[in-house]
Amino acid sequence: MRRKLVAGNWKMNGSLATNAALLEQVKADCANSACEVAVCVPAPYLAQCQALLAGSHVALGAQDVSMHAAGAYTGEVSAAMLLEFGCRYVIVGHSERRAYFGESDELTASKAARAVAAGLVPIVCVGETLEQREAGQTDAVIGAQIDAVLAGLPQGGLSGIVVAYEPVWAIGTGRTATPEMAQEVHAMLRQRMRAVDQKAVETVRILYGGSMKPDNAAELLAMPDIDGGLVGGAALKAADFFGIVCKS
Ligand code: PGA
Repeated sequence: MRRKLVAGNWKMNGSLATNAALLEQVKADCANSACEVAVCVPAPYLAQCQALLAGSHVALGAQDVSMHAAGAYTGEVSAAMLLEFGCRYVIVGHSERRAYFGESDELTASKAARAVAAGLVPIVCVGETLEQREAGQTDAVIGAQIDAVLAGLPQGGLSGIVVAYEPVWAIGTGRTATPEMAQEVHAMLRQRMRAVDQKAVETVRILYGGSMKPDNAAELLAMPDIDGGLVGGAALKAADFFGIVCKS
């Protein structure tokens, strides 16, 4: 019922030369993949990656979007601009944006709403820190993060989003949530969204992210509410990325 999605999050990595080599291999590897595949690339490389991916099954995404439509917002990139470069997805509320750039639940919600209104699919990231998990606050923190986004969506907007559960303590650390731990949070997220739209919630994909690798992907992806992955480090090597895609 939900086609899995594996999205690479390149973060602030890449160059014209390495992007070309990586995408050539990703395109070839993923030509017949059962799941949907996307790469979320740094904004300056959107034009290059759009051209490289033309005619392929690999979708293009960005890593951030402005909450504003257009105007005097130096440094910002609008949803309309991302659409012009063929983006289907945009990551919003990544924990690195929240932690290093002070992005709040409210700002994340505004960005998600802007993306949906423009026709982009936001990949809405939520996740708890280690301290929050140890203090028993996981559900409260993630509940507040997702509720803010849900409250800001336009009518019927739930079917236009993807959610990514990324425990902060698992990102780039080599520490992964166990499939059971992740499933518990994914089920809670789906329950939370059910209150908004009982029908659409069954089609919303909830990705897991945080040190997903070829050797742990299969067991995570086997859980009933894990509908794919948001992949950082392993998305920078074609063989590792495909090692996850082929298990989805
Ligand atoms: P990681 O990053 O796979 O390198 O842990 C995931 C992410 O931050 O999206």
